[in-house]
Amino acid sequence: MNTANYQLSQRIQAYLHVLSVYATFMQNHVTVCRRYCSHCCTSNVTMSTIEGNIINSYLQEHLPLYWRDILNPESNPKRFQPKMTINQLARYCYEDADIPEESIEPQSGECPFLKNHECMIYEVRPFACRSFVSKELCADHGSALVDPIVLTMNELCMQYIEHIDRNGFTGNLIDVLRYLKRSEDVLQENLTEHLVHNSPIHVLMIPNEHQQTILPYIEQLQGSMAKTKK
Ligand code: SF4
Repeated sequence: MNTANYQLSQRIQAYLHVLSVYATFMQNHVTVCRRYCSHCCTSNVTMSTIEGNIINSYLQEHLPLYWRDILNPESNPKRFQPKMTINQLARYCYEDADIPEESIEPQSGECPFLKNHECMIYEVRPFACRSFVSKELCADHGSALVDPIVLTMNELCMQYIEHIDRNGFTGNLIDVLRYLKRSEDVLQENLTEHLVHNSPIHVLMIPNEHQQTILPYIEQLQGSMAKTKK
């Protein structure tokens, strides 16, 4: 294995460690979210390039024809394209700096991986999909019902995932996958145009009232960082 592949493998292992810490945390929290519930499966999902690498490999092995949908520049034109990452937001808040305004279109259309209410990449779906949970059916309330401590844990895990992938990018799921596919096809446009460079953790976003509960999980998440020193 060459150095680049070894480092990618280390980052993937660190990302999977974050997922396992999150799964442990969620054992203590009720969620009605299940496979085939697609209420929140819009094309506004964002992710990091490390998650894109995992999905990319899955697509090549299991669903090679899906690239047609993802690579179509016309697909989901109203998709959310973030201007900053979670670690950048944490830094802006800490430094009391101006925060770029994000605009999100609720009617952005379905996620391209949703077919007949089924996620075609469920096993490797991004963290954003795993962590968009609700205590009660969104269809009954019009939106998700989430405990504040779960939101804090979600942001914490997203900060660690970005740190693990600190040399990569964050962006819309479609844009990240198109970027990763760039060297294999004929697309000529600037594919990083709608991606944001990731940043290492500068400060964690944890409200005072959650610190005691969250601390043991931070200690576990530090184990992910140890796997990716470079
Ligand atoms: S990747 Fe899967 S779980 Fe995530 S929004 Fe798309 S269809 Fe839904």
